[in-house]
Amino acid sequence: MEQIYLDHNATTPVDSRVLEAMRPYFSDQFGNSASLHGPGQRARVAVDDARRLLGNLLNCQSSELIFTSGGTEADNLALMGVARAFNFKGHLVVSGIEHRATLETVGLLEEMGLRSTIVPPREDGVVDVDEIVRAFEDDTILVSLMLANNETGTLQPVAEVGGEAQKRGIIVHCDAVQALGKIPFELRELNADLVVFSAHKMHGPKGVGLLYSRFGTRMAGLISGGRQEYGKRGGTTNVPGVVGLAEAVRLVFEQHNGFPDKLRSWTDRFVTGLSEALPGVALNGHPTHRLPGTVNVAFEGVQSSLLVQMLDMSGVYASPGSACQSGAAEPSHVLLAMGLGEERARSSVRFSFGRLNREEQVDPAIAAVADCVQRFRQTVGSGGREINGRLDRTASYAG
Ligand code: PLP
Repeated sequence: MEQIYLDHNATTPVDSRVLEAMRPYFSDQFGNSASLHGPGQRARVAVDDARRLLGNLLNCQSSELIFTSGGTEADNLALMGVARAFNFKGHLVVSGIEHRATLETVGLLEEMGLRSTIVPPREDGVVDVDEIVRAFEDDTILVSLMLANNETGTLQPVAEVGGEAQKRGIIVHCDAVQALGKIPFELRELNADLVVFSAHKMHGPKGVGLLYSRFGTRMAGLISGGRQEYGKRGGTTNVPGVVGLAEAVRLVFEQHNGFPDKLRSWTDRFVTGLSEALPGVALNGHPTHRLPGTVNVAFEGVQSSLLVQMLDMSGVYASPGSACQSGAAEPSHVLLAMGLGEERARSSVRFSFGRLNREEQVDPAIAAVADCVQRFRQTVGSGGREINGRLDRTASYAG
């Protein structure tokens, strides 16, 4: 059975060139980059080189880059760090489609005394610039808007929001975890002060991320201990991870040549094929203003967490538009914020295409999904418990 991986937004395999670049720093070059001796200094050079390379690629100062343990930590650092610099006082404006790394941090900050306004998107998944601007208050200290949503792939007007916010002296946080490697963009043109990236979404290693913090941004550190990362993030540096992140980003910039166009034609064909094969199919999110490889599809009458497990048995790997924890599937906060309703949210599946796919996989993927949806509708949908009984896996949130 051919395996078709359609979950690149959850994670990607490490590129062999990235692995090769990292390998020495697990063994021969094992030094702690904070040590003064030879092995330490050799590790230090590798970290400095990685930071310089990333600065050149992203077109910023290397001293504006802070290495973290991933996108989640970078989002936490951005929000908590700014709140700390403002003595946990003030107001935040955050889009309702942000990743949990951002939304849950906002929840924590509310417990600590900050106020927030959560701005929902339009039904097409795009957050309206005017709605965000209307939410600004006199004491708004930060606005959060992601560049591309992880569930629908819908692209957001970050540069416009950033421009409006910066005019008012409001700090702009942008989660670009899903965008880098999938769409070309210029960091400086985002008009953002804090921008978050994660290596494992672009064929780098898991457990390493990056926070761009524009020079002069008021942000305190979060993890105390060592003085690493300009005192903003203590902890022994993950040298192989940092080297792998830099190599993954280098490959992103080397390899754009036309691949996004291919991805777009595959996902367009995929959605059209599903709509022709099945009744009750709808695309969630903006049809064109989205990441080229991401589509989020609702299948009327289907429970997405079970459908994803049926697809798994057919060798097709995708993610439900819901996170199941302790067996209870919660509908996606993103789809709910778009006003799509619980039923549609629970019947939606995210398919994210990428480098592991080939054009020849598109038609078999359509056939497998159509077959599983039809079987679901005939059995579970009509009250049968056959599939329900066999499929009871639980999972936590995947990207
Ligand atoms: N932000 C977005 C938009 C994501 O999709 C993810 C991935 O799950 C994260 C943040 C968290 O990144 P990480 O898995 O590196 O913690």
